[in-house]
Amino acid sequence: MSTGKLTIDLDALVANWRALDARTSCETAAVVKADGYGLGMARMARALAKAGARQFFVAVAEEGAALRDALGPGPAIHVFSGHMAGDADMIGDLGLIPMINSLDQLIRHVEALPGHGFGIQLDSGMNRLGMEPAEWAAVREVALGQSPALIMSHLACADTPDHPMNAAQLAAFREMTVETGVPLSLSATGGILLGEEYHFDLTRPGIGLYGGLPFKDAQPVVTLDIPVIQTRLLEPGETVGYGNTFTAKRETRIATVSAGYGDGIHRIMGPKTVLYAENTPCPVAGRISMDLIGVDVTELGFEPKSLRLLGAEQGVDDLACNAGTIGYEILTALGPRYDRRYIGG
Ligand SMILES: *Cc1c(COP(=O)(O)O)cnc(C)c1O
Repeated sequence: MSTGKLTIDLDALVANWRALDARTSCETAAVVKADGYGLGMARMARALAKAGARQFFVAVAEEGAALRDALGPGPAIHVFSGHMAGDADMIGDLGLIPMINSLDQLIRHVEALPGHGFGIQLDSGMNRLGMEPAEWAAVREVALGQSPALIMSHLACADTPDHPMNAAQLAAFREMTVETGVPLSLSATGGILLGEEYHFDLTRPGIGLYGGLPFKDAQPVVTLDIPVIQTRLLEPGETVGYGNTFTAKRETRIATVSAGYGDGIHRIMGPKTVLYAENTPCPVAGRISMDLIGVDVTELGFEPKSLRLLGAEQGVDDLACNAGTIGYEILTALGPRYDRRYIGG
């Protein structure tokens, strides 16, 4: 077997959920959209449900349907995109809770599924999803008359605690939700860390559960070990990979490992990235190919069977930094080709 081995630690996932839950005195949901941030929605959600999570969020109704299949009838499943045309059967039959984003969605929902639960998403300044203050003011009475289960909004700059946008959105959200008598939710991972006034009745962490920033104290959830297919000795002056971007300056031992940008290991991270053999860092040599990466293992003194790209030594956010992106993108890019193993839970 030559595929990389992606090990996903369900105990670390649960520990991260509990640690974020312990930072608030309200309820903590779990966001498992995009296949549980690339780690497997069903496995993530079942482990979290077993640990006590009762409320889940997904991006689209189709994900909600898959999640209902994984979780069974108990837990609440909220859909950020709300009630889109064609969603009524899924929402109705599977008991999904759409976060209604507009007057159009509200009308669609109450016409198609009268009496079926829903939530309201408000826009407090991000200008992405949700009703704006004027629209909300116009429909507020009618919407509240239908007994929404939740009112939520989302912060644009919560990963930057000093950003004035946080307080501005908090004020806007408070103003739009005075005396609604409905449970409120504003914060994802970043908002939880901003402090108690951002917590309201329910928080919605995603990335922190999976070990990513801005939750600095998160336990790492993923480990990625990639098998070495072959090693070779280069004379000074020989080159490695497409475009000859690596030239051996000395006698160099190159290990070729079995993963590449087809597995979410972006080409751009090559020059700054290392792979570990036990505790020894071995730099990427030459360009990352679709299925293969050359690694300079000269310093090792032995021939490794596999090399570790992700783990305690080099985490998701280190790779993100090397690629000029964020941990979210590294996780959700991890491809379907890995041999995925779930431990703990
Ligand atoms: C993705 C998302 C979350 C989770 O955000 P994290 O930063 O991953 O914790 C919460 N709420 C909404 C509306 C989202 O889109």
